[in-house]
Amino acid sequence: MSTKNIPYKIYLEEDEMPKAWYNVRADMVNKPAPLLNPQTLKPATLEELSQVFCEELAKQELDDTTAYIPIPQEILDFYKMYRPAPLVRAYCLEKKLGTPAKIYYKFEGNNTSGSHKLNSAIAQAYYAKKQGLKGVTTETGAGQWGTALSMACAYLDLECKVYMVKVSYEQKPFRREVMRTYGASVTPSPSMETEVGRKINAEFPGTNGSLGCAISEAVEAASKDENYRYVLGSVMNQVLLHQSIIGLETKAALEKYDIKPDIIIGCAGGGSNLGGLISPFVGQKLRGEADMRIIAVEPASCPSLTRGSYVYDFCDTGKVCPLQKMYTLGSGFMPASSHAGGLRYHGMSSVVSQLYHDGLMEAVSVEQTSVFAAATEFAKVEGILPAPESSHAIRVAIDEAMKCKETGEEKVIVFGLTGTGYFDMYAYQRFNDGQMGDYIPTDEEIAASLAKTPVVE
Ligand SMILES: *Cc1c(COP(=O)(O)O)cnc(C)c1O
Repeated sequence: MSTKNIPYKIYLEEDEMPKAWYNVRADMVNKPAPLLNPQTLKPATLEELSQVFCEELAKQELDDTTAYIPIPQEILDFYKMYRPAPLVRAYCLEKKLGTPAKIYYKFEGNNTSGSHKLNSAIAQAYYAKKQGLKGVTTETGAGQWGTALSMACAYLDLECKVYMVKVSYEQKPFRREVMRTYGASVTPSPSMETEVGRKINAEFPGTNGSLGCAISEAVEAASKDENYRYVLGSVMNQVLLHQSIIGLETKAALEKYDIKPDIIIGCAGGGSNLGGLISPFVGQKLRGEADMRIIAVEPASCPSLTRGSYVYDFCDTGKVCPLQKMYTLGSGFMPASSHAGGLRYHGMSSVVSQLYHDGLMEAVSVEQTSVFAAATEFAKVEGILPAPESSHAIRVAIDEAMKCKETGEEKVIVFGLTGTGYFDMYAYQRFNDGQMGDYIPTDEEIAASLAKTPVVE
């Protein structure tokens, strides 16, 4: 450990920002299982994927061997508007907790979209533009991805059509308006505009919607227009690749002060921020250069890693996307309307799933009220009002720091603070009013949903 005084915020210089994304698959001994074509159940080819995704992104999706993929200059220029993101030493939180642990967080809420999602949104919009497309379609849950994509599309002058999970569309009108301000069209999902939307509405009348449904609608809409492609905000390998900028900067900032992390913590919805944060560190573990604990934190209401099965499943309710082998609760799983909208996904990135399966990381699930208690504690001393999703990581960072208090260990804890919670004030209101509950699905519910996963092999 260096004797240098460690500042509250460790900033990298602009020219210290990584120039290439890191693809952890290149270092994985057990590669994530291939995506399968949902009709043939054979590995999806570049040609098939290119009908759904931009070609360059389809290539990134399938690339298990290139460790470093250069970041195009235009994307680097955009990144410079809000990156490098600071790595903050949570001195005030440490003091409040009275812990000998040293807590750091990588703050990704430093842009108008309010989360890390912009890192991949700009990359995906860039490749769509480069391919000469007119626009992109996507889904959004709580609205962060749709917001990020709208910003990226506005910057590059691309059209953006967003299917927004109905419950969020109704509960988060401000997010919706941010997207519209950036020029996106926003439709509540399930809608009556697509075949799959009409089918889901007929099967589940009055449904609140889910990410899985919205994905199916966005894919269908893109597939009906030659000049459009579909883009996804999480789960896919390409998204984890773009998000590796988080981990690369974190690692560079730690190395600048010779700090060695003992525990790295991230919240896990589809696994993109977590995957991006941990990738360079997992790379070190895989190459035998360093070791540390890595913890994924998921909501108890949607516990794919801790209670799901590791099987091939559909990525979406409408069963149009390629099949992925992942920890899943079943693509028909309808999570209770938990406030951490960004964590309401039934599955998990196949990279994160494989790493978890191979014992390279741990996972825990936490209940909503304890998450908001942690969020409030953090906000009071660190000044940032965290997103509910991010607060899952805060919860476990605090829990680990309190264990250090008992044992007297000065562990270095690093967590990803993925975003701010200014659009989540209804959730905070429910918490402040003591009206927030902790819904946890029963084993029977999960088993019933998992019984519908496809039979592969
Ligand atoms: C979307 C989102 C998440 C979860 O998505 P991942 O793909 O699992 O990273 C976490 N935090 C915030 C603020 C988000 O917007």
